[in-house]
Amino acid sequence: MKKFLSLTIILLVIQLGSISFAQSQQLQPQSSYMSKQWSEKANSMVKYQIEKRGITNIDVLRVMRITPRHLFVPSALSSMAYNDYPLPIGKEQTISQPYIVALMTDLLKLKGDEKILEIGTGSGYQAAVLSQLVDSVYTIEIIESLANSAQIRLDNLNYKNVVVKFGDGYKGWPSAAPFDAIIVTAAPKKVPQILIDQLKIGGHIVIPVGDKWQELQLITKINKNKIKKKTIIPVRFVPMVRSTE
Ligand code: SAH
Repeated sequence: MKKFLSLTIILLVIQLGSISFAQSQQLQPQSSYMSKQWSEKANSMVKYQIEKRGITNIDVLRVMRITPRHLFVPSALSSMAYNDYPLPIGKEQTISQPYIVALMTDLLKLKGDEKILEIGTGSGYQAAVLSQLVDSVYTIEIIESLANSAQIRLDNLNYKNVVVKFGDGYKGWPSAAPFDAIIVTAAPKKVPQILIDQLKIGGHIVIPVGDKWQELQLITKINKNKIKKKTIIPVRFVPMVRSTE
């Protein structure tokens, strides 16, 4: 009887242990999607595409290593997910090149407690990267099917602090404003004033600006009426379109 009792206790302890292990896995499921094969690809992506081009922010590098980019592209393209170029994600849109995602994230100089606005959810990859470095991410997508699939993907992968809205980024997200930082991943012809209005003083906007020729700009809001612009590099993004309604 005593033997049976101790066996039961041992089994119970093992079971409880595995439950809490499962729970802790659930908290960080992203990493469990990175098999050895994908991790190797992500690690060399970081080493040869991102660190080599001068990004040293260890938090950005860490997140780029553990975010399963292959689950954000169409399955037929997953073997190319960690390569040094953008990829199509349907509806004539693209997921940005890994280096550009890392660069834009790095430029925001995040501390961890920020509320961020993203314009152009696309696949949800940039939002997933940001979500691991900030408090919350609000992201707007103008194509309804992309907004829906991104929200489902982000939920399934357990990125709980991301909210996706189907809507027009030119309107911003007034009910959630002001934001600590704003990232725009489609190119408007000029920086939308509404986004500047919805940014906190001292905050940054990283945004590609232009038409055929575009440049990545880092905007800093100095005060209510004054911004500072810094040009980073030439880039090529899909246009930030105006809604037809
Ligand atoms: N950040 C994305 C890639 C963005 S591609 C990712 O990580 O996958 C640019 C996206 O911006 C496209 O999905 C496009 O539909 C969207 N977009 C273009 N104009 C927009 C607008 N006015 N408001 C919101 N989204 C817009």
